[in-house]
Amino acid sequence: MICGLLYKKRAQLFNLHPLMGFKKKLRNIILGQPQKMVVTMHKRPDGDALGSALAFGKVLAQFGHDVKVVSPTAYPVFLGWMPGIEEVVVAETTNKKELTAMIEQATTIFCLDFAEYHRLGIIADEVRNASATKMVIDHHPLVEHMISDGDQLFCLPEVPATAMILYDLLVDMGMEKAIDEDMATCLYVGVVSDTGFFVHKNVNANAHLIAAKLMSRGLNVHNVHYQLTSNTPLYRLYFIAHAIAHRLVVLPEQHLAYFAIPRSDIKKFKLKTGDTGGLISYALNIENIYVAGLLTEQKNSVHISLRSLGNLPMNKLSEAHFNGGGHMNAAGGIAFTTLEAVGKKLEQVARDLLQQYAVF
Ligand code: 5GP
Ligand code: MN
Repeated sequence: MICGLLYKKRAQLFNLHPLMGFKKKLRNIILGQPQKMVVTMHKRPDGDALGSALAFGKVLAQFGHDVKVVSPTAYPVFLGWMPGIEEVVVAETTNKKELTAMIEQATTIFCLDFAEYHRLGIIADEVRNASATKMVIDHHPLVEHMISDGDQLFCLPEVPATAMILYDLLVDMGMEKAIDEDMATCLYVGVVSDTGFFVHKNVNANAHLIAAKLMSRGLNVHNVHYQLTSNTPLYRLYFIAHAIAHRLVVLPEQHLAYFAIPRSDIKKFKLKTGDTGGLISYALNIENIYVAGLLTEQKNSVHISLRSLGNLPMNKLSEAHFNGGGHMNAAGGIAFTTLEAVGKKLEQVARDLLQQYAVF
């Protein structure tokens, strides 16, 4: 016990804590010689991944670095209004040579909101093989991670959003004043995306405090809320109505509800990237439903989103059965079989899970 305390004290005095080492290294990089950098995020980026990358990219550029913000796949159309989004390099639609050069020439690659190579999709191998130092900032519980010698990992699974980790890092490094209105907006999108507008189980006082601080840096809360929730295209509303009427499976005795969306729907309603986002909440919001799924048929696979209430671990379910992971109450995965087979599998594994865990 005393040894532990002494070690802690020593660590505080001599900056030995690995996370403190990260801050020091990060600060040195930001304030050091201008260099080529890539800021990247996980495929199918959400508001936290995109918001964190855009905000951080802008901070780095302010300090004179040559920064490329790279998304492995297209970002959701409903985030197309975010400040700086036009600068984002979408890997799947960028010339391969250009992309490779960008990744190879970078001396630092920041990986935000993920810590597993497979989440980089088509740029996973390039980033893995790049000679750059990789700095990973994330909040997903770690299963495996992508760090090798010389790389740095800063992962705080108890923090609701990567954007919050970034905000706190910037403040700790004395860079709060570098946060302008655009960055505040992007960081706030991260906070609200991952806390469900401050109502998910993960929300904490710091999420509210950071929101308040971001307001003092120029954030317009109403505008973000308008952009994220009051700007839904009509075709998307028709799709939601259709999905609720025809694609929702509800199994009340199993406390499970899920949507199974065939590819034909995507085509029929001309859905764009991210247009199915939010649908899963309709399933989870049904009374007595504790586990919700959204199964979306892709060309050669089925994408799986999972949400839960209480202590039902969707990340463990996804790791065990759907080649994925995530957080306790929100996880994602992929399966290489038919939509119907994934539905049946979900029914079976959700039933087994409910038997194992007390729900509330
Ligand atoms: P979504 O359902 O929105 O795709 O994902 C829900 C949550 O799970 C998000 O925080 C997302 O980053 C995370 N997630 C999705 N797929 C994976 C995965 O394969 N591995 C890990 N660790 N997290 C994932
Ligand atoms: Mn996140």
